[in-house]
Amino acid sequence: MTSVLWFRRDLRLRDHPALHEAAKDGPVVALFVLDPKLLKPAGAARVAFMYRTLRALDADLHEHGGSLIVRRGDPANAVPEVVRAAGASSVHVSADFGPYGTQRDDAVEKALADDVSFVRTGSPYAIAPGRVVKGDGEPFKVYTPYYRAWKEHGYRAPASTITSRVEWHTSLDSIDIPADPPEAKKIELPDPGEDAALKTWRAYRKKSLSGYDKQRDRPDLDATSRMSVYLKWGCIHPRTMLADLGPGDETYRKELAWREFYATVLSNWPESAREYFLPQMAKMEYARPNTKAFTAWQEGKTGFPIVDAGMRQLLAQGWMHNRVRMIVASFLTKDLHIEWQHGARHFMQHLVDGDLASNNHGWQWTAGTGTDAAPYFRVFNPVTQGQKYDPSGDYVRRWVPELAGIEGKAVHEPWDLDEQPRGYPERIVDHKEERRVALERYQQTRD
Ligand code: FAD
Repeated sequence: MTSVLWFRRDLRLRDHPALHEAAKDGPVVALFVLDPKLLKPAGAARVAFMYRTLRALDADLHEHGGSLIVRRGDPANAVPEVVRAAGASSVHVSADFGPYGTQRDDAVEKALADDVSFVRTGSPYAIAPGRVVKGDGEPFKVYTPYYRAWKEHGYRAPASTITSRVEWHTSLDSIDIPADPPEAKKIELPDPGEDAALKTWRAYRKKSLSGYDKQRDRPDLDATSRMSVYLKWGCIHPRTMLADLGPGDETYRKELAWREFYATVLSNWPESAREYFLPQMAKMEYARPNTKAFTAWQEGKTGFPIVDAGMRQLLAQGWMHNRVRMIVASFLTKDLHIEWQHGARHFMQHLVDGDLASNNHGWQWTAGTGTDAAPYFRVFNPVTQGQKYDPSGDYVRRWVPELAGIEGKAVHEPWDLDEQPRGYPERIVDHKEERRVALERYQQTRD
């Protein structure tokens, strides 16, 4: 009996529980559906990386006698069509817990003929959302107790590799994987696919994992793993990574658990993708986003070096260091008084690792409106943050060429120099004053 394995955020062949299930019954159709609803909000970086990863997956399948069948359209039409053409009796997927993915999968399941089963096996997480709950059965809203319970619950070992044993069904029509969007040419993207993910992970473990705990907040050092993009697309399963961690890698394990925590929160409160997790924070007054200031922030021209460096890195690489994500998000919400949703949307458009749960809850956390949030009154000072986490200024010099000639940490306060750097904008706001305004706005939510 033929099965369809419908790939989505699991673009790999190893450690793939849904592939195990699909291959049990007989030949497997490897299917990917280009869904216009998902392609529309993704920017050039994410779309190009996805196309490249699909090409890599197709090449991996060819090595094992298979090929990727690609279709375009609403999955509720495209998947049943492939099922009919292949005469398949089941559709296998890795479960999706996002707001759109859940509805889409329900719609596809409904659209299948009665004698075709829709089987969800595994997920993009070490522990699927919903499995780890509080003693009273309620979902966690706070990370630290969640992490304790998550760790205690434990996760399975990676699934074995069965690629050489799978019989692939390859005779169906497929469209070509599209060419990259032209705007992607200017973006420096990581290598795509499963082999690149495993290679990046191996190299990181060997070279930098042991220093993660001490150096992960330093954007100047290239000290983090850059695995987010591979996790986003499922080029690697988090369990493959967790299985490699030792007792000394607790900080890294905790970061992977943040990803799982946010996915769990989003699956329990799907509306938190757009709305305030803490509803009282919606009462706060905000500035309109269509201001010059918002554009300056998007383009990395605020006159605050660490903010501008981060925003320019985002445009150049589709990625930004976590510490800098927090700094620029704080700047938008607390110095420019713009609602987090506008910043989150800009991030989702440009990030190659753009993930609704981690992104939107990362924004809510920084804005002080989310789960476990940083208290609203903790306003990041972009100058002292820069001085602390980019102590010699290398990160700023790399991304802001107008400041490349300024030595050392003076690069974080170019306005103090005798000679102003040419072409670099003046500060668009007075941080001290905006901090005062932000705290005043916060007070309103409590009155
Ligand atoms: P490492 O430091 O090497 O961390 C290892 C892995 O742990 C990451 O790959 C990621 O999967 C996970 N992780 C680490 N920190 C976090 C975190 N705070 N929340 C959730 N998971 C985490 N991450 C995304 O994957 N996609 C996003 O769209 C995204 N948007 C963000 C927006 C904001 C405003 C903030 C503050 C954070 C956001 N993050 C997002 C989390 C974090 O910034 C990135 O996961 C991290 O920078 C990716 O780089 P890395 O793989 O080198 O991370």
